Amino acid sequence: HDMTVMVTGGAGYIGSHAVLALLDAGYKVVVVDNLVTGFDWAVDDRATLIECAIEEEDRVRAAIRGYHVKAIMHFAGSVVVPESVSDPLKYYRNNTAASRSLIESAVVEHVPHFIFSSTAATYGTPTTATVSETSPTVPINPYGTSKLMTEMMLRDVAAAHPINYAALRYFNVAGADPQGRSGQSTDGATHLIKVAVEAATGKRDAVAIFGTDFDTPDGTGVRDYIHVSDLAAAHVAALERLIAEPRRNHTLNAGYGRGYSVNEVLDAVDRITNAKIVRRPEGRRPGDPAALIADNAAILRTLDWVPERADLDLIVSDALAWERTLSERA
Ligand code: UDP
Repeated sequence: HDMTVMVTGGAGYIGSHAVLALLDAGYKVVVVDNLVTGFDWAVDDRATLIECAIEEEDRVRAAIRGYHVKAIMHFAGSVVVPESVSDPLKYYRNNTAASRSLIESAVVEHVPHFIFSSTAATYGTPTTATVSETSPTVPINPYGTSKLMTEMMLRDVAAAHPINYAALRYFNVAGADPQGRSGQSTDGATHLIKVAVEAATGKRDAVAIFGTDFDTPDGTGVRDYIHVSDLAAAHVAALERLIAEPRRNHTLNAGYGRGYSVNEVLDAVDRITNAKIVRRPEGRRPGDPAALIADNAAILRTLDWVPERADLDLIVSDALAWERTLSERA
């Protein structure tokens, strides 16, 4: 493929891995990123980086025309759940309103395909551990609502205009590029695997366990961790599906369909590093469900996607290797 794909948020964690997956598959890539939370060095040299906000419609539209963009992968946005509770308007601006601008640019410039970073947070607190795309979407924080609103805009816009879309609802994304080209680089991480590899490399002295009395086999929270490179590959597969069948849209869970507990994750890190992370049991975080696992039958059925790193130890090893690269750089 030599089609050009615009990747918003391509300097961020998941976006930079999607850029690599697209380039490795032969696509041309234009990244649009305002570099507020992303890093210019995370953008592969083969891609073109345009430093601009996605709501700058004149510049985005000029880039779509200038580079003959035929698909947009939209990762840009704000992602910190507690911050969305204290500053909801930031999320309705950076996620919902900014997406509205970007979708309008896509429609006006006749971009035929749109792929959106959505989230399992659109489900809120599910009534079952395993959720499918037909489970109720009742977000419990503004982050989830801001993403669900964008899904709704896409649904309505695709019904009215010649554009099709795929919304991928991510479960717990972790790990790093197996070739060491990118990884999770933002400071102040709160996600479990990132926090655990920081502890394993001496960046913190302990890992808090938020809840030890959940109704799960070992009492700690269970999540469906997906390797960021497999997730990036799912985006490329979604694009190929959109190209193959221009009138179909897709909303798909992106997960492996298997959960691991907090203790199992920390056991994996201990095993791989041959160390013993200090575990500090604490109370539950508000809104945390006991277990959240993807029913991934739809994505497996719909996309030509075969996960290659669906293994907790691989996820942890890649996250750890990246963490060591970051420490060497610092
Ligand atoms: N968690 C934990 N300690 C941490 C971070 C997370 O015990 O320092 C737990 C959290 O309660 C949940 C799981 O690890 O059960 C994954 O949390 P994370 O914040 O990574 O992602 P979330 O599922 O909240 O999106």
